[in-house]
Amino acid sequence: MIEVKNLSFAYEEKHCVLHDVSFSIPRGQFVSIIGHNGSGKSTLAKLLAGLIEVKVGSIAIDKVILNPSSIQSLRPKLGIVFQNPDNQFIGATVADDLAFGLENRCVPHDDMERQIVDVAKHVGMEGFLHQEPTSLSGGQKQRVAIAGVLAMQPEIMIFDEATAMLDPQGKDEIRRILMRMRQEQPNLTIILITHDLEEARLADRVIVLNQGQVVMDGTPSTIFTRVEELKSMSLHVPFLYQLIHHLPKDKQQAITSIEDVLKVLS
Ligand code: ADP
Repeated sequence: MIEVKNLSFAYEEKHCVLHDVSFSIPRGQFVSIIGHNGSGKSTLAKLLAGLIEVKVGSIAIDKVILNPSSIQSLRPKLGIVFQNPDNQFIGATVADDLAFGLENRCVPHDDMERQIVDVAKHVGMEGFLHQEPTSLSGGQKQRVAIAGVLAMQPEIMIFDEATAMLDPQGKDEIRRILMRMRQEQPNLTIILITHDLEEARLADRVIVLNQGQVVMDGTPSTIFTRVEELKSMSLHVPFLYQLIHHLPKDKQQAITSIEDVLKVLS
């Protein structure tokens, strides 16, 4: 679904933000891209979403090279949810906001109301359709932003630090939605850009960026047991994986929860 080849990028001359990045993502995979602040994650997200132009290397979406002449036809495949929930509201109410996404998809007006309710249900916001954005919490606003993007039926959804500004409850709400999307839309390719490793472990695969380069690429359990290397990149390893790190090597493989750790220790 996505093929990134030898991608390099600089905003300013001589200050390379991404260096020779290559990876491919099959349709339906859920991938987290993690890295310390300034490692180039957001730049990569913007390049993948076609918001900034590729200059060196290439990105292909569904086998079509992303460039100024293909972006119009590729854009409907790409949805992006940004960090700040306040900047993503377009409508005066939740229903208006969702209608905007559906209008973009040319949904007939007769069908609009039903589809607004459907898409709101996906994110548990069907009870808030006539509320104004100012009356919503950060987590609720982000849920509306996700529903707005889902309404456009993208094939790839990019979350660029979408939970970074939320409180713990807001973060949990978004994580639950991610897990539901995973189950209900197995063909949707999800890219989760985050510096929160606890969140990154929800994915099938984790790509680690450091100083603009891919330095690790694998399943959460293979990546997060490399505790010392992650620490050296100022990444905070999830508690479960810190525990696993202290267990004998032959006991580490089968562990997926704190309960498993307790069983090994008992
Ligand atoms: P991350 O998302 O991992 O924090 P970014 O992609 O936001 O990393 O930033 C990578 C580097 O690019 C940083 O050094 C940042 O200062 C720089 N940068 C980001 N956006 C711009 C911009 N619009 N103009 C110039 N430099 C930028």
